Amino acid sequence: MTSHVIPSYLSGDALGPWGVFLQQIDRVTPYLGELAFWIESLKRPKRILIVDVPIKMDDGSVAHFEGYRVQHNTSRGPGKGGVRFHQGVTLSEVMALAGWMTIKNAAIGVPFGGAKGGVRVDTRGLSLAELERVTRRYTSEIGFLIGPDKDIPAPDVNTNERVMAWMMDTYSVNQGRTSTGVVTGKPISLGGSLGRHDATGRGVFVVGQAAALKQGVSIPGARVCVQGFGNVGAIAARCFADAGAKVTTVQDVSGTIHNPRGLDVRKLIEMQLAGQHIVEYRDADRITDDEFWSVESEFLVPAALEQQITAANAGRIRTRILLEGANGPTTPEADDILNANGVLVVPDVLANAGGVTVSYFEWVQDFSSYFWSEEEINKRLDRIMGDAFAAISETAEREKVTLRTATYIVACKRVLAARQLRGLYP
Ligand code: GLU
Repeated sequence: MTSHVIPSYLSGDALGPWGVFLQQIDRVTPYLGELAFWIESLKRPKRILIVDVPIKMDDGSVAHFEGYRVQHNTSRGPGKGGVRFHQGVTLSEVMALAGWMTIKNAAIGVPFGGAKGGVRVDTRGLSLAELERVTRRYTSEIGFLIGPDKDIPAPDVNTNERVMAWMMDTYSVNQGRTSTGVVTGKPISLGGSLGRHDATGRGVFVVGQAAALKQGVSIPGARVCVQGFGNVGAIAARCFADAGAKVTTVQDVSGTIHNPRGLDVRKLIEMQLAGQHIVEYRDADRITDDEFWSVESEFLVPAALEQQITAANAGRIRTRILLEGANGPTTPEADDILNANGVLVVPDVLANAGGVTVSYFEWVQDFSSYFWSEEEINKRLDRIMGDAFAAISETAEREKVTLRTATYIVACKRVLAARQLRGLYP
């Protein structure tokens, strides 16, 4: 029998998002058979790095930010996962996000472990030059931990192609050679992949289609509510609208807008590109952020931050299919309520895996220096997402569990089988 001393940063009452991840691992453990012997390795990240990120501000002062890179698991391959810039970033959050990447990468079968990074910074208060200095200093500080065959960052909340270009350049300058494969989600001209920008939102829609078929929901005319209008929410909304669905309600940090006849999603995206807020859209009513959760729909897409759907609002949700575009938007208690109310929850680790799937394609293309057409990429993305949904759906039916637990069963078996085969060193 093994005995485990739990490190202080992994325990305690206020575990936050990491506590949610631990509960999800506990829920899957009874379904893992003899592989459950290795479960403890998923309940503690492999490596945690906390760095100080000091930068010179434009006014000459020096500001310090807290940065993290967590490699949760590397049993199946190098660490992989995005970097988030947000004032609310905490170690618990980055640990959970890294854990969800381990599950996500295994669930869709890309040969990566799970990792995540973040800087606790409010980017709205930074000039472009300050944002660049934060990015470059953070990249330098985590530089010894990342690399094309070690750990590959990518965009996440408030990071984009431009930030990835700075990360790639900083790492390359420090290494003395250009290394395009160290990050994914880069601009096309620097070894980025066609289709990567839209991949997460597109993947949300692809699994949404599969879930609709399972639930007997028709997409033309279906009502869709979207929380978060960034790279995930806006693209998913556009895909739904293009397929004839009615995006009736959208919420972002500026507020919530609603029109039962449907919003013009392309117009909203144009407004956003022009620097306007969604609440400035004319042909809609303003409703409160809390009312968003009671709007009746066929699809609800939380595509913002974690822990948005809790025991406090889950009972009010009137939808058929909840498609988790964000990472960790639903707490385990809320999951139970939704399940009891007959809502099909397509979990984050499956629904938003399109981004990392095309990140995998980008990484492969960088290694071979041979680039594929967008058509080829989208075809492969649709196939991987469709196959993953079908396999997970089948597991859910066989084991009589939710799609979340089924995704964890498939993923944890893959990770722990690799763990077992590799064995312990020494
Ligand atoms: N940040 C995205 C996610 O949460 C993408 C990660 C990646 O492409 O590595 O899945």
